[in-house]
This record gives sequence, structure tokens and C-alpha cells, in this order.
Amino acid sequence: MRVENFEARLDMDEYIKNYVDVPKFLAACKECPYYGVTWACPPFDFDPIEFLKKYKSVVIYCRKYIFEEEEGDYDDLDFQVFFYKCRAELAQELYIKEKEQPGSVGLLGGACDICGLGNCARQQGKPCRFPQYMRHNLESLGGDVMKLSKDLFDIEPVWPKNGKMPFMVFVTGLLRP
Ligand code: SF4
Repeated sequence: MRVENFEARLDMDEYIKNYVDVPKFLAACKECPYYGVTWACPPFDFDPIEFLKKYKSVVIYCRKYIFEEEEGDYDDLDFQVFFYKCRAELAQELYIKEKEQPGSVGLLGGACDICGLGNCARQQGKPCRFPQYMRHNLESLGGDVMKLSKDLFDIEPVWPKNGKMPFMVFVTGLLRP
């Protein structure tokens, strides 16, 4: 497997205007089994746009995992395991970037799995156990990952088809003060 990394910085006004559509992605989140299941996912007790507006800019990071032909065989479980392994690695990298840029905060993809998928404290009506590590999903705050990836990096994300996937794209963000 080869890995390619890309990044681009956007002013917050530009990001919100061109790449954020809260109603569209809230509707998509409602179709996801993790909607309302983890604290990283909607519904939120805050307005995503107001949350984003607290920051001046966002750096969008894109990591493209390019598989060799024999590596691109994925059933749903394989894909989930690989996706959450990548998510954990990217989270660690974002925590380092946050430290380097005080006041910044990372945005990830997927549901929060820090306590194990299906074991979020939200399901027991309790507060997040690790708010210092929990990061919201970029899409859950209205971010259009497909458009970002296409416009900024000329990459069109693909999903497994007939168990095959030539590459996987993981888009994350860093909100900067
Ligand atoms: S850290 Fe644990 S409690 Fe907090 S959102 Fe993630 S899974 Fe839920």
C-alpha cells in the first residue's frame, strides 16, 4: 500500500460558504446507525455554524491509501477494521497538530470509537468519558468531504464495489483560531 498526503488551508468564511451544508449532512447523519449514539455525532446541543465561526480558518488534510491489487479486497468488516485503524492514527496526528497550534481543534471522520463502537457513554445518558480526545466528525458539522476532496485535491473518493477498492480517502480538518 502506498500513502499520499495532501493539505489545503481555507478561510473560515470561504469554507462555510463553499463546503458546509448543515441540513444536507444532518439528513445524511440521520440515516447512519451512529446518529445520536456517540457524543461526536449529531444531534448536537450547539449550532454547527456558530461552532465553526469561532475559528478563523481550517486546514483540510487528505490521506489517500492506495492499495496494491491483491490488497484491495474488502468485505464490510475488513473495511471497518481498516477504516478505524486509520482513524486512530489520524487522531493521534491531529492531537499533535493541536498542540503545535494552541486553540486549534481537529475534526475527524466516522463515529467516535474511543470507548469501543457501541459503547459510548451517550447510550447510558452519561457525559463523554474522554472529552479531551473526542473529536467531531467533519461531516457532522456540515462539511462536504466529497467536494473538498474533489475541489482541493482533484480526488474523487470511492467506496468498496463488489468487495474491491482501489484506494481509500480519509479527510480530516484542523480548525484554527
Ligand atoms: S470518548 Fe467514549 S464517551 Fe466520548 S464520544 Fe467517544 S465513545 Fe463516546
